[in-house]
Amino acid sequence: MTAMASATLSAELITAYIGIGANLGDASAQVQRAILQLGKLPDTSLDTQSSLFCTAPLDAGGDDYINAVARVKTRLSAHALLQGLQQIEQDFGRQRPYPNAPRTLDLDLLLYGQSIIADEVLTVPHPRMTQRAFVLIPLLQIDPFIVIPKHGPAHQFAPLVADQAIRKV
Ligand code: AMP
Repeated sequence: MTAMASATLSAELITAYIGIGANLGDASAQVQRAILQLGKLPDTSLDTQSSLFCTAPLDAGGDDYINAVARVKTRLSAHALLQGLQQIEQDFGRQRPYPNAPRTLDLDLLLYGQSIIADEVLTVPHPRMTQRAFVLIPLLQIDPFIVIPKHGPAHQFAPLVADQAIRKV
């Protein structure tokens, strides 16, 4: 194995959760296509996905979002997985004209096994995941008992986001 390959591959198969959102164009189709692309990343397979949910934009203008969460099994390192997510975003034509601009596709690495990561490019668990209904509700649909490292059971945060409008598509 080359030095590069050993840096981008994890020794074990990791369960990771990805948050997906879009609010431009045919957002439902984009989200569904993006989920399929996750399963085509190297050394990665799509395990399961939540339903699609429609949510009002938070801290941003524009149309409602379509959101979902996917669970993958991967041997990619967390950073290699993030790069893969960013490549998919680019493939979907994402532009970043200003913070929180409407987006054809946003992919967030929510959880990477039990890892806690905080460096200049990656924070895992995703720092705002306990505050967002559009992450928590699809995540709890996939696994009602999931525990978020550093935070505890995800379900305990659901009442705190009850004021955020979200409905299943
Ligand atoms: P965004 O514009 O919301 O897609 O944010 C992308 C930026 O957040 C990139 O610079 C990433 O390096 C950084 N980032 C930090 N932690 C994460 C994470 N867990 N998932 C996705 N992006 C992250």
